[in-house]
Amino acid sequence: MRESLKYFNFFKNLYEQNLRSKFQKDSFIISNLPYLEQAIEKTRKAFIENLSFSFCESCAKRGIKCCGEGIEWKLSISEFMLNLMLVERRNETLNFNIEKLEDCLFLGEKGCNLILVPLFCRNFFCEDLSRFLGKQKLRNIQQAMEDETVLSFKLSDYITRNYLLKEG
Ligand code: SF4
Ligand code: SF4
Repeated sequence: MRESLKYFNFFKNLYEQNLRSKFQKDSFIISNLPYLEQAIEKTRKAFIENLSFSFCESCAKRGIKCCGEGIEWKLSISEFMLNLMLVERRNETLNFNIEKLEDCLFLGEKGCNLILVPLFCRNFFCEDLSRFLGKQKLRNIQQAMEDETVLSFKLSDYITRNYLLKEG
């Protein structure tokens, strides 16, 4: 079993057995999650409207992948916890890629399985994509991502300070 799978499974168990019930009683987390969802949706729309997703899709159809093994480590534990909460709010589960070891642990059949993607991935615009988008579209996307960046940092930092450091 790959190291990252063991690692994220460990924290998934910690969440299910201990932290989930505490998070559900935390008014700061509960009141901010809907805003985070809105911010993520705003980012998603900007990627669609500026044709970034479709460009990457056509790239994936040509067999090019940029979600390689190891990038899962860019997701912090607090961001992982946020993802677990976000998928549950959609009545879904967060699946790991356990078959294709050359790919990121979070890469699914239809792309990334995460709802809150690591900042590293959100900010990754390869040369071809940057050239395709041009400065204006790139700026549109970066501006739209600001709310998600600020809010996800605020929540991740809160979870780290109030729960993860204390658990450790
Ligand atoms: S970021 Fe670049 S390499 Fe990755 S899927 Fe998009 S176009 Fe392809
Ligand atoms: S976008 Fe998702 S699947 Fe792709 S590398 Fe980032 S975390 Fe992994």
